Amino acid sequence: MLMQYVAAGFGLAALVLFGRWCLVRQSRDQASFPAIGVSSCMVLAVAATFPIVDRATLEGRLSHAASTLIGIHVHVTCQTLTGSAVDMGRELGYVKWGADGVPEHKTLIKHDQCNDLSAYLDSSKERPTAAQVLAVHVLSHESMHMSGTTSEAVAEWHAMQHDAALAADLGASPAAAHALAVRYWQTVYPEMQDNYRSNDCGPGAGLDLHLPAAPWSP
Ligand SMILES: [Zn+2]
Repeated sequence: MLMQYVAAGFGLAALVLFGRWCLVRQSRDQASFPAIGVSSCMVLAVAATFPIVDRATLEGRLSHAASTLIGIHVHVTCQTLTGSAVDMGRELGYVKWGADGVPEHKTLIKHDQCNDLSAYLDSSKERPTAAQVLAVHVLSHESMHMSGTTSEAVAEWHAMQHDAALAADLGASPAAAHALAVRYWQTVYPEMQDNYRSNDCGPGAGLDLHLPAAPWSP
């Protein structure tokens, strides 16, 4: 949001300079056009829109991947830098429930995780960082909520079985996508809080979707 104001501010400054020149020109024939002022404001206005365009492109890409994963149209919003500065929440993404208790078809992914997803998309996906593995899983986890799951343990366990499919949709090879899912399951999941875990979580247990892409599949 901040960059939108910055872009609008420079655009407005260019317009004000141009307007002032028009007024001065009416009273004085020789008023010189403030070319440097107007053009530098225009350049700064355009430059300030780059992060906005980048974020919209990333959100479109992530929305498409999440929609493909769960088979319904959903929207992913990336938290802005300004939003992250005032954010006290510890969660890495969230989906709101409506008054009827049904999760909305939109999610907000935190600023750092969106940056990690962006870096992952720009990479070969062969050797993701720990932060990138986590960010892919966060999108997968929030996608499970958007598909209607309100339980954290169910969302977490189902998400682990969808991590490989999401990584593949984001461009990973089948082997790299499977490796990412295995890495989350083996290194991050064991450290999760109790409410993200369930006795029904385990290969062959109640929450096992028996998907071929599950991290415990060979
Ligand atoms: Zn959750």
